[in-house]
Amino acid sequence: MLIINGGILATYKSTDIQLSALENAMRQFDEAAARMNIDRAMLDILKQPRRAVIVRLPILMDNGKFKVFTGYRVQHSITRGPAKGGIRYHPNVTLDEVSALAAWMTWKCAIVNIPFGGAKGGIACDPTTMSKNELERLTRRYTADLIDVIGPDIDVPAPDVNTDAQTMAWIMDTYSMHARHTVTSIVTGKPIEVGGSRGRREATGRGVLIAIREACKFKKISLKGARCVVQGFGNVGSVTADLLHNDGARIVAVGDVYGGLHNPDGINIPELIEYVKMSKKVVGYPGARPFDSDEILKMDCEVLVPAALENVITEKNAKDIKAAIIAEGANGPTTPDADRILESRGVFVIPDILCNSGGVTVSYFEWVQDRMGYFWTEEEVNSRLESIMVKAFEDVLQMSLANSCNMRIAAFMLAIRRVLDVMMLRGVYA
Ligand code: NAD
Repeated sequence: MLIINGGILATYKSTDIQLSALENAMRQFDEAAARMNIDRAMLDILKQPRRAVIVRLPILMDNGKFKVFTGYRVQHSITRGPAKGGIRYHPNVTLDEVSALAAWMTWKCAIVNIPFGGAKGGIACDPTTMSKNELERLTRRYTADLIDVIGPDIDVPAPDVNTDAQTMAWIMDTYSMHARHTVTSIVTGKPIEVGGSRGRREATGRGVLIAIREACKFKKISLKGARCVVQGFGNVGSVTADLLHNDGARIVAVGDVYGGLHNPDGINIPELIEYVKMSKKVVGYPGARPFDSDEILKMDCEVLVPAALENVITEKNAKDIKAAIIAEGANGPTTPDADRILESRGVFVIPDILCNSGGVTVSYFEWVQDRMGYFWTEEEVNSRLESIMVKAFEDVLQMSLANSCNMRIAAFMLAIRRVLDVMMLRGVYA
């Protein structure tokens, strides 16, 4: 296990012409910080991750051979409480990507004003080529290697891309076996039977819907009948599409990693969800026309929801986007250069750190319920989520209007201010 405490970002450089997720996250931070009068050393503490851990994970594969995977856990901040953030399984996972995602978690938790810092984890692997047993062994070994750096009061993981409630149950069990007693609050996003919260699976999508509703009110667009396009049809994308559909919006296109579907009259989302449960992909569903998913971001619509991966809206395609509102279900889907183009074209972007914060909000509810050992009804969860999301949207909107800046810069300013205030109250242990 390699542990790096602080100061690691200076060594990062992306090899691609396109900026990396981390460089984007740092540029977003710098743009907001430039509008605030903050001491340089304090900015340095706020910007850099507090701790990064790299683990090498030898796993016995089903063919009887060992394969070694690399896993990461980055804790960006613990100023406001335990670090909090998901775990991603994807071939492109790098320390750089995980660090960006961890920083966004810090700002996200501050925007919804919950007592957590920010973290993220990931393993570079292709889960589509691995069996359930291999994934279980990988998850358990990753958890065991991180046993000293995670914990209910230290760092609480959750699902992200290609991880789900089952993954969380394995983490909970592994951690509990080492602790010699059941510790449900070690992870969130668990199955309800093992201490999960009602409403957690749908929480990120529900939060995206609430943010879209608030944005539509502000932009005076009727959500009923509004044409929506959703990129990514996993946890976030499918739930957002379903809830938008329930609210009377028309989902005219959806896409996943395999391809896209288009139907100008609106796709029957509940039917499509049933289809995807069996086929694992949207293409092939008979109620819509297949199309090349590269075109999805440019489709005619009022609301565009990127809900797949980062860096999809760039300076190359931002000018072709026709949506009036972009609701960032995914983390980091828009590059800073694309942001500038979208702003000049009057597109209203609900930034990721606000838009998809419903997931971590209900994760917080789950952690609270686990620690109380007393569980809430789904109505209680949803109504508490609604008040927090509406307040967060209003706080960011007011910050944006007061400072004549876009919603992303406003969200960063609000979050940086909240983390800094706590840091100043606690004092710096130097
Ligand atoms: P998921 O694994 O459930 O789904 C990901 C979806 O994106 C799949 O449909 C996949 O096919 C699609 N996809 C992947 N690559 C694509 C590509 N190149 N083009 C089009 N589609 C592609 O993941 P998820 O949990 O829904 O997460 C999606 C995004 O939302 C990520 O950015 C994640 O960090 C963010 N997020 C997730 C949560 C959560 O609670 N799950 C919370 C906040 C933010």
